[in-house]
Amino acid sequence: MATVYLSVGSNLGDRMANLRKGQELLVAHPQINLIKASAFYQTSPVGGVVQDDFINQALAIETDLDPYDLLEYLHEIEAKLLRKRLVVWGPRTLDLDILYFDHLESEDPKLTIPHPEIMNRLFVLIPLKEIIDSNFFAYEQIQQAIERLEDSQDQRIERVDENERN
Ligand code: ADP
Ligand code: MG
Repeated sequence: MATVYLSVGSNLGDRMANLRKGQELLVAHPQINLIKASAFYQTSPVGGVVQDDFINQALAIETDLDPYDLLEYLHEIEAKLLRKRLVVWGPRTLDLDILYFDHLESEDPKLTIPHPEIMNRLFVLIPLKEIIDSNFFAYEQIQQAIERLEDSQDQRIERVDENERN
């Protein structure tokens, strides 16, 4: 079984419901087990497109799927949630990204692992830090990236109440 870290985000429609539905579909797969889920965080969009805030979460799962089969299943989930791909880096009902897949490294543009943007995005790092152990191989790098981004203060992120309607 591989341990895999995912980043999940939504900024269209009922964002919390989208994340919950995504998680439901994820664990419905017989070869995927959920190990840990972070809190939900509300975050300002990155990338220059004017759009609503995202709700983001990190998940740790265990799977014996190979990386490409997992990615394909994540895309199926996104499709079920009727994700719109009209604007690059624009609004989406659900975005599911693979952050880490065990210690695997891949530079394939279709599946780059570790995900190339991890260290630039507080909305990925903060939820991720919540669900990793301090002996995780990239822990120090993650901690340093958080400090650097928090110092620069241009990415807003706040924890949201699980029961809040969004
Ligand atoms: P983004 O997540 O960058 O905002 P998309 O979700 O539309 O944009 O992803 C575009 C493509 O990125 C996907 O079709 C997928 O093949 C590719 N991709 C590359 N590496 C990864 C990864 N680690 N996790 C998820 N998708 C990835
Ligand atoms: Mg994606």
